Amino acid sequence: MFNKVAIIGLGLIGGSIARMLKKKHQSVHITAYGRKPENLHNALKEGFIDDVASIDAIDCNDVDLFIVATPVLSSIAIIKSLLDDPHLKSSALIIDAGSVKQSIIDSVIEHQKAHQFVGCHPMAGSEKSGYTFSTHSILTGAWVIITPHKKNNDDDIAIIKKFWELLECKIHITDAVTHDRMVASTSHFPHIVSTVLMESFFAINKENNPSDIQPFIGKGFKDMTRLAGGSPDMWSDIVLLNNTNIIAVLEEYIQSLIKVKHKIQQASLHNDRNALCRYFEEVQKKWIKYHA
Ligand code: NAD
Repeated sequence: MFNKVAIIGLGLIGGSIARMLKKKHQSVHITAYGRKPENLHNALKEGFIDDVASIDAIDCNDVDLFIVATPVLSSIAIIKSLLDDPHLKSSALIIDAGSVKQSIIDSVIEHQKAHQFVGCHPMAGSEKSGYTFSTHSILTGAWVIITPHKKNNDDDIAIIKKFWELLECKIHITDAVTHDRMVASTSHFPHIVSTVLMESFFAINKENNPSDIQPFIGKGFKDMTRLAGGSPDMWSDIVLLNNTNIIAVLEEYIQSLIKVKHKIQQASLHNDRNALCRYFEEVQKKWIKYHA
């Protein structure tokens, strides 16, 4: 396994990887790179990393594995600069954690060292961001999607698969196009719905004082709007880079909203409680399938 690891972006995901990696492979040497290395001293004190340095001075010498865990647009620039670095070992691998995969691959595929980059997406995390919220447990049992591209070789994919398995993750391997299409509906769509729910809620209640609304807010509302608290920086990159898939999902959603509005209008007009009950039963059956 890797002896010298560099993590670029020691936030929620980078920090969680550092914690789990140190737990599983104590002799590994981890250097964390950040825009403000002085902010990473806590991680150094806690012993989850061995060194900190500025992102502007990445030392590629001897590094076996680079983990790029920054928002996706910045990851693209960082991965390119690592591949360009003359000190990058020929055996070194670069992985990322980005929530969008095809645009990253497109941006490096013509590079002569493109085979050294393996796209990864840990399906772990939360609406929180930053190292403070990192924990090794978010990786335990989480799926990691690995998206090999045409220049990768099977041995490197096998090594990266083993790496994530060491961190107690489950692996799914697929192409980047499939990944981006799937996460548009399973991850990006819920984030947007949560955000729009929050926005509409404020528009609907614009005449009310927040303190007057508070007694009416239950757990359901908090559950449904939790994701809206996610990092705007991270989400802007994701939405921009996966816009086509996200827009397709939203088109479907808008149609569903129109249909349910019509259903409610019709049921109310005809006092047809059964029609509503049938609708909720159908959806509940689907819900049970996914939550079993
Ligand atoms: P985070 O905000 O907690 O951490 C991001 C890190 O990148 C921070 O250390 C930040 O200082 C650094 N950073 C931000 N902008 C930068 C820039 N322009 N240049 C260099 N460094 C920069 O975010 P996170 O949740 O750890 O997300 C990191 C990556 O993992 C993203 O690509 C995201 O799409 C992906 N991801 C996030 C989640 C999640 O639920 N949060 C889940 C899976 C994958």
